[in-house]
Amino acid sequence: MLRGNQALIDRDLAVLWHPCTQMKDHEALPPVPIRRGQGVWLEDFEGKRYLDAISSWWVNLFGHANPYINAALRAQAEELEHVILAGFAHEPAVRLAERLVSLAPPGLSRCFYADNGSSAVEVALKMSYHHWRNLGRTRKTRFITLENSYHGETLGALAVGNVPLYKETYAPLLMDVISVPSPDCYHRAPGESWDAHALRRFADMESALASHAEEACAVIVEPLVQCAGGMRMYPPVYLQRLREACDRHGVHLIADEIAVGFGRTGTLFAFEQAGITPDFLCLSKGLTGGYLPLSAVLTRESIYQAFYDDYASQKAFLHSHSYTGNALACAVALATLDLFERDDVIARNRDKSKTMSEAAAVFADHPHVAEVRQTGMILAIELVKDKASREPYPWQERRGLSVYRHGLDRGVLLRPLGNVIYFMPPYVISDEEIRFMADVAYEGVCRATED
Ligand code: PMP
Repeated sequence: MLRGNQALIDRDLAVLWHPCTQMKDHEALPPVPIRRGQGVWLEDFEGKRYLDAISSWWVNLFGHANPYINAALRAQAEELEHVILAGFAHEPAVRLAERLVSLAPPGLSRCFYADNGSSAVEVALKMSYHHWRNLGRTRKTRFITLENSYHGETLGALAVGNVPLYKETYAPLLMDVISVPSPDCYHRAPGESWDAHALRRFADMESALASHAEEACAVIVEPLVQCAGGMRMYPPVYLQRLREACDRHGVHLIADEIAVGFGRTGTLFAFEQAGITPDFLCLSKGLTGGYLPLSAVLTRESIYQAFYDDYASQKAFLHSHSYTGNALACAVALATLDLFERDDVIARNRDKSKTMSEAAAVFADHPHVAEVRQTGMILAIELVKDKASREPYPWQERRGLSVYRHGLDRGVLLRPLGNVIYFMPPYVISDEEIRFMADVAYEGVCRATED
């Protein structure tokens, strides 16, 4: 039997269909077989190591094989791995709900579990619609969303997302949504501040709300960073205006913090920076420190109460997933929250994000970099064909893929979004590792833009 990487690659390609992948690409670049992980490092079957600069799709917070989380997982496995959550309860699910509610701003007092990010978005959409229906507002059946947003791949979540690459193919299957231009500050006018741009863009949201308030259930946003849309960023003032306008027009606000939650933007939740409370808060990814699939939707007591009635009223939220509130996932989520408290992570990340900014400063002067932008622990570099006009590289050239390949050669897992290179590392990354990650990305950018 073959040993090393090739043996697993051959078996993989014989049976697997990888996510978000044109499988033919693997003829030129096979999948990287990983044997073990430790901290920010992944290791293949031949001992080669890769720094996980993207936290394995933005889920990992405290490193691979974290000893504290491992211990919590082992202990929970000895007690109870899973039990149906309809009609039954278990301590990890209750404790996690208590802790999430206590970490969220006052008002978000109810926690509903699902088992992945897209499902959490489906829950929030259905709950919002159903809340209005239970109040007799049956004309409210639509959702307002931002251009360039991403909320997942299931049909409801895909419909409220707006990244054409993922959405267009499936357009005939998707519900019709109201799309509003994004406050994305990459598109601000020369010399315009982020705030001025976001406020200018808010006029479109205000008019969408004014025209559609009667039929709109909710506005859904990714607070501060549109991640899958190329790590495009906007300031908190937009969320402040949005909260006020949603209240004025009687429309819910759904904060999809699946990617940006748990410290990525510099605060535990991104919307905190706007000092607002959404009506629904969707959490997943970092919720379990990158260990197990779990998601939660937090909402207000008043929304919960609109469903609370005699069974015969048919107002109940009859939504479920088999692994809802899985005990192992809840236990590792509790351990993840322990680490936030124990290690004062949010404060320590301020220094790390400064190191990231210093390490990436060199990109700003590169002739094919239009912008280096950062919000907390997310830093993105926008590659362009022409720096002055910001003309993008044609997507067919796949410049980002060249950076990815260079990263793999040099031992860094970067996974650019088109022509956007970004860093979203686990919080246990050291300063030296940050500099290594940035240096390798810089070399990759230089090579990918040579001609
Ligand atoms: N919302 C946002 C903002 C996301 O970034 C993602 C995943 N990248 C999702 C929802 C979907 O989560 P999942 O992949 O777990 O379904």
